[in-house]
Amino acid sequence: MKKKLMVLMLAVAMIATFAMTSCGGGDAAEFKTDGELLAVTEATFPPFDTVDDEGNIAGFDMDLLSAIAEDQGFTVTFKDIGFDSLIPALEAKEADIIAAGMNSLDPERQEKVDFSTPYYDSGLVVMVKAGSDIEGVDSFTSDMKIASQIGTTGADEALALQEDGKIAESVILDKFSDVVLQVKNGDVAAAIIDLPVAKNYVAKQPGEVELVGDVLNAEAYAFAVQKGNAELLEKINTGYQNMLDNGTVDELKAKWEMD
Ligand code: GLN
Repeated sequence: MKKKLMVLMLAVAMIATFAMTSCGGGDAAEFKTDGELLAVTEATFPPFDTVDDEGNIAGFDMDLLSAIAEDQGFTVTFKDIGFDSLIPALEAKEADIIAAGMNSLDPERQEKVDFSTPYYDSGLVVMVKAGSDIEGVDSFTSDMKIASQIGTTGADEALALQEDGKIAESVILDKFSDVVLQVKNGDVAAAIIDLPVAKNYVAKQPGEVELVGDVLNAEAYAFAVQKGNAELLEKINTGYQNMLDNGTVDELKAKWEMD
């Protein structure tokens, strides 16, 4: 009798252990939370994510996440991939963090990844060739082509305008640098692009392109981790708060000439 009781208790303990590790969004052991972590970005998004003269991935996102990593005792390397590949890379566990000026307020994205404390408030604007008579989204007509970058909130806006018949075609490109080029060359009537990035492109080529109309939406850029990686998320949020408190965030905004 005693032996049967022992076997039964052992079985119950094993089932309980299995249940604990298999519920709650996955076993914590499956996530990387320290050592060398891989962050993915799309590096035509200056001043957040760009490639410097030496060919290195550089920007506000890189500097801020690297400072957070140092503060929290891990290291981070960066890889430049397509914007529409960022979330799939985390879902496939091919990367640990997204550092790409990504709007964290998007419900579909929130289903797939976990976002950190937002670190920058932004929004979308309309960019036109200098001298254009377009004054904003309300000036768009059904014969116009409007460009933005694949997988972004700007692309969502352009595709919605096309769906509603308010523009002829949304031209969706891989890189924002190509989007801006198409505006400059007159290949498209306008682009829908993030305000701080648009300002950066305008500043780099004054007199070529300009921003018109009101900001179209409200965005909150954040880092993202694999869904369920609560430990890494906590490290990023704690490290970010420390960088706010010690003035690093302000120093980096000044370095990258950001508002
Ligand atoms: N903020 C926009 C988005 O989240 C664009 C980001 C980007 O192109 N890096 O979709």
